[in-house]
Amino acid sequence: MKKRTKFYALLLAMVLSLTQMIGAAVPVKAATKECSHGYTLVNGIGIRMHECGESVCITCYHGHSKRVVIPKTFKLNGKTLPPSQFDSDNGFSENGVKEIVLPDTVSSMGYWDEEDVEDGNIGFRGITFYVHKGSKAEKAVKRHNPYKYLKDNTKPQPVKGTTIKRAVRIEKLAKLKWKKVKCDKYEIRYSQKKNMKKSKKVTCGKNKTSLVIKKLKKNRKYYVQVRTKAGKKYSAWSKVKTISKR
Ligand SMILES: [Zn+2]
Repeated sequence: MKKRTKFYALLLAMVLSLTQMIGAAVPVKAATKECSHGYTLVNGIGIRMHECGESVCITCYHGHSKRVVIPKTFKLNGKTLPPSQFDSDNGFSENGVKEIVLPDTVSSMGYWDEEDVEDGNIGFRGITFYVHKGSKAEKAVKRHNPYKYLKDNTKPQPVKGTTIKRAVRIEKLAKLKWKKVKCDKYEIRYSQKKNMKKSKKVTCGKNKTSLVIKKLKKNRKYYVQVRTKAGKKYSAWSKVKTISKR
């Protein structure tokens, strides 16, 4: 009897796990939230597909943040799309929003045509917009709303350079040593001229911090510099180091 119960229990467990497996295999459509206006709701922001189908419109706001950062892209109908326009101030100023950060792709703030402006009906009251300087979004808000510039974090950071620690001359050789920095490559150039004219270049891997330059001319001074390469970008050249004559 005991054995039988065990058997049935096992059978039940197997059936259960099988149904679970099948259940997991059936794709469940992710529930999309809808706002009271019937628009798709993303973090309190209502969106709809733009007529062109390649971007979204911001329709309304149902959240309660003081500062609303409009995302750079939204997922809608299986597409990842940038926002291009606001339909109107539907819930933003009403719900106490004071600041809206706009992605560069927003090029229209909805109903702000001349008639609306004349009627004093320009919406977004008491809201300051944050935009990138020179962006479409700046143009879109410029005429009728206070705005401030965002600090541009997309600007490429300059590649960090290095410095030559030592340059020792031994006969026709010179031994160089430079400071290790994070980079992909080091590039060394040396010349008999301080302005680096007719210089020769040597490239070293990121794990090297020294180099022996050969076949230098006797009784000649040389000048040497190092720079780093990260990705496709180079740092500035280091200060010129003199390789004394021998
Ligand atoms: Zn809504």
